[in-house]
Amino acid sequence: MTFVDFVDLCDSMAPRLFTIASHYHTQNNVVIAASLIENGLISKFFLTKPQYVKTELRKSTFTASMDWKKVIYIAAGTGLAPFRGFIQEKVYNLELKKQGK
Ligand SMILES: Cc1cc2nc3c(=O)[nH]c(=O)nc-3n(C[C@H](O)[C@H](O)[C@H](O)COP(=O)(O)OP(=O)(O)OC[C@H]3O[C@@H](n4cnc5c(N)ncnc54)[C@H](O)[C@@H]3O)c2cc1C
Repeated sequence: MTFVDFVDLCDSMAPRLFTIASHYHTQNNVVIAASLIENGLISKFFLTKPQYVKTELRKSTFTASMDWKKVIYIAAGTGLAPFRGFIQEKVYNLELKKQGK
């Protein structure tokens, strides 16, 4: 088998999923919270501070009610990523309320 045939047989690299960890009202960019994995291809790639990365957005089914007064978020590792955005949204809404908006 030639090298080209071998490469043709290989799957393309699978995309890595990252949860948006910021709320769109509070900043003009998107923040992700990525954990550095030993020998992890993409998490190590982030260390090179890339200027551009190829991305696509996928809609999440994970939502938080904004009606709550008090809530405890529990997560392991990077599972805390969406909570960061939820907290920013809550703070943003409280600020709007204070301003009577
Ligand atoms: C819905 C969802 C949301 C996610 N959200 C986040 C998030 O917000 N933040 C976050 O940090 N992560 C998140 N992840 C995990 C993320 O998508 C990646 O899986 C993670 O960053 C590791 O990717 P990587 O390219 O760095 O590691 P990879 O290169 O995929 O490696 C992962 C592991 O496999 C081992 N490995 C790789 N290649 C080989 C090989 N050939 N032989 C043996 N072992 C090998 C590596 O040593 C490493 O331990 C999420 C995943 C999902 C499914």
